[in-house]
This record gives sequence, structure tokens and C-alpha cells, in this order.
Amino acid sequence: MTQTLQKTPSTLGDILGRAVEHLKAKGYATPRLDAELLLAHSLEFSRIDLYTKFDRPLDASEVTKFRNLLIRRLQQEPVAYIVGKKEFMGLPFFVSRDVLIPRSETEVLVETALEIFRPKGEQSLHILDLGVGSGCVGLSLLHHLPQSTLEGWDVSDALQVAEQNARHFGFDSSRYCFKKKDMLADDWERDHTFDLIVSNPPYIAESERENLAESVSRYEPAIALFAPDNGLKFYKKIADCARTSLKKDGRLLVEIGASQKEEVVRAFSNFGWQDIRSHKDLIGHDRVVEGRYG
Ligand code: GLN
Repeated sequence: MTQTLQKTPSTLGDILGRAVEHLKAKGYATPRLDAELLLAHSLEFSRIDLYTKFDRPLDASEVTKFRNLLIRRLQQEPVAYIVGKKEFMGLPFFVSRDVLIPRSETEVLVETALEIFRPKGEQSLHILDLGVGSGCVGLSLLHHLPQSTLEGWDVSDALQVAEQNARHFGFDSSRYCFKKKDMLADDWERDHTFDLIVSNPPYIAESERENLAESVSRYEPAIALFAPDNGLKFYKKIADCARTSLKKDGRLLVEIGASQKEEVVRAFSNFGWQDIRSHKDLIGHDRVVEGRYG
């Protein structure tokens, strides 16, 4: 690999082409995208810049910098952690290994909330995001619902990343607050203050651990992935406690694993939620369960 990349003279286009071939040969699913993101990051270019600079020669230090990033990718490290960012709902989120990498399927959670609340016109919604992680869910809602305010809870150091993202997007600090809280153990607010509660909680059963891709199980935080009670513990707690935190007629929306719809709907219904609906993601998997209370 080292030798392949160091043949001289090397243009950006040559180096990129060789990296793509290498990732492809090793069976990576998105070799061109990965190589472009890593090369653009190492040169501090945008991806578009790469296409206008194909003939630009790379010097030895540039090649070394890129090669080091590529080596990390070749050990299965996700590109998002290597470059420190990931796009979600069109916004560039900082990520670190303290947070789950935002997933495109989670956009269904945000889009469903927007479909419910946008037609009601501009209103000052108070939103609670349980297990805020990078902040991708709650902060994209703040972005798309400009009158809204957000409270985000997380039990882990992810909160610092959420805070960093909120500051980076330039939201007025009166619009958001983050709290270090364990939704399973700590007290919930019981004064019916929220219009909307959203959560993408940990939902993978421990028994599934060995079926996960290495890039997930080795690199992403276990605390954000796994849940006791066959993956259902957080849904049951949320279905119970959200009832006293939500305003009358407020909505609860949770992301679910593709096979969890029936059990999550049952948990919602056991705790008296109404108008329970589910929503699919773009590849047709059940992905979001919604309920109304009061
Ligand atoms: N809310 C964040 C996300 O959707 C984090 C979720 C989690 O850590 N389980 O990506």
C-alpha cells in the first residue's frame, strides 16, 4: 500500500484512483466515497475541489497524511470518526467516538416530527431529546422549527459533542440546554412541559452483538447501541415516564429497530398511548413509532 501510493510523480487523481481500487479490492462497500472523503479531509478541500484538481501533484507529506487516514479506514474505523464529522438532515455534525454516528434512517424520526408540527404553523414548541448523542435529532429539529426550544439528556460524554454542535450552528443559547441525565435511573420532569419528546435510544439486544459489523462493534460506543430486556428497556421506560413530561396532546416519537414494531407498539399501548402509528424508512423497514397522550 505504502509503495503504491508513493510512486512519483503522483497527481491527486492517481492517488485517489489507487486508493479506490485498494478499498474495492478489500471489499469496502463505498470505496470511492470513502476515499474522496478521506482525501478531501487530509488536504482540507471540499469533495468538489477534488474534481477540479485532479492533475495537481501531491507532495510527500500530503501523500503521507492521506495514507495514514486510509490505513485507519483499512482497519474498519468509520470514515465519520476519521474526519470528525457527518452530515445529517443537510447539516454538518461534529462526531467523536463518544457519540453514535448519525444514520440516514434516523432522518425519518426528524422528518416525521416535522410533518406533524409544521402544518400547525409557527409555534414555540418545547422539545425533549432523550439520549441526545451528537445532537443530530434535537438540533436538526431546532434548525427546522425556528421558534422551538430543546432540552437534551444524555448519560455520557456525548453531551460535550452536542454542546459543540449547538454552538457551531450558532443557535441562541436560550434555545437549548443539555443535561447529564440517565433516563432509566434519574427523575423525569413531571410537569407536562414538553410538546414533543423524541428519542433514538439504544435498542440492540446484547445477543445481537456478534452480528454487528466490525466498524460498529469495535468503534461505536456500546452505551449508545445496546439495551437490556432484548433491546426494549428504554422504550418501556419512555412509554411510562413520558406521560407526565408531555403536555396534553403532545407527541412521542421513537426510532426503533426494524423488527421491534410490534413490541414497541404493545409497550405504548400498555401505558395508554393513543393514535399509535408506525413509519417506515426509505428501504421499507419499520423505523419510527409515534404516539399521542392525553
Ligand atoms: N440521538 C442520537 C442519534 O440519533 C444518539 C442516539 C444514541 O446514542 N442511541 O444519533
